[in-house]
Amino acid sequence: MTEKPLIEATGLRKSFGDNHVLQGVDFTADRGTVTVVVGPSGSGKTTLLRGLNALDPVDSGTVRIGDVSADFGALASAPRGRVRSATAALRAQSGMVFQSHNLFPHKTVLQNVVEGPVIVQKHPRAEAEAAGRELLAQVGLTGKEDQYPFQLSGGQQQRVGIARALALAPELMLFDEPTSALDPELVGEVLAVMKNLASEGWTMVVVTHEIRFAQQVADQVLFVDGGVVVERGTPTDVLTHPAQERTQQFLKRIL
Ligand code: ADP
Repeated sequence: MTEKPLIEATGLRKSFGDNHVLQGVDFTADRGTVTVVVGPSGSGKTTLLRGLNALDPVDSGTVRIGDVSADFGALASAPRGRVRSATAALRAQSGMVFQSHNLFPHKTVLQNVVEGPVIVQKHPRAEAEAAGRELLAQVGLTGKEDQYPFQLSGGQQQRVGIARALALAPELMLFDEPTSALDPELVGEVLAVMKNLASEGWTMVVVTHEIRFAQQVADQVLFVDGGVVVERGTPTDVLTHPAQERTQQFLKRIL
């Protein structure tokens, strides 16, 4: 029997006032795979990602990650406490890396990484610090543990952000344009860390304009436009031989 997909999103809808940003998004992703989401600016990619981890819950549709699922349409009329526990359970399933890292400026690199495990997950500090040092090594930051964010380059800060998300031991990692705020010469080091995570078997959903990264690393690519998944397939299907006119036009504009 084949394993169920790790991520299953069905009928996701979300509006901001009259702006119907997600208009019925469906997709699945298997454990250990990398999904890259591409599409024009304003097409709903960030909204989709924030919906997957319930940071900004969708209006309706269901999200299942592993054995945690939430039916947001049903939750709309549920008591607040139930909504809060459902969204918290879903949020705990994924680690999120943002466009800019949002590190605590007055905490050291290591303190930033262990904050979640110690404060939220109540792990003993010494244990969390040992795990944190390993994660920092994994993202190439051994020796930077006691520095402060302002002493690091943007690429290094972003790698601390990745280590911080990993420290919570999530089921999967979500990346929202993790390199788009970086100077071009710093993009490669962050993508290299992400490639490494992919090869270690992490399940990842990545919103990015880095088409080469998608071609090299993605198991599936979603082209999102106008709040729907217009096309979904392998990088070769979607990026090299797109079937849909809208995908072809988008790729012509960015390549
Ligand atoms: P993308 O990531 O593809 O660029 P977004 O998901 O960020 O697109 O945004 C999709 C649309 O939703 C845009 O029109 C944006 O202005 C709108 N939007 C996103 N977040 C909010 C918000 N918090 N309040 C109002 N409108 C929003």
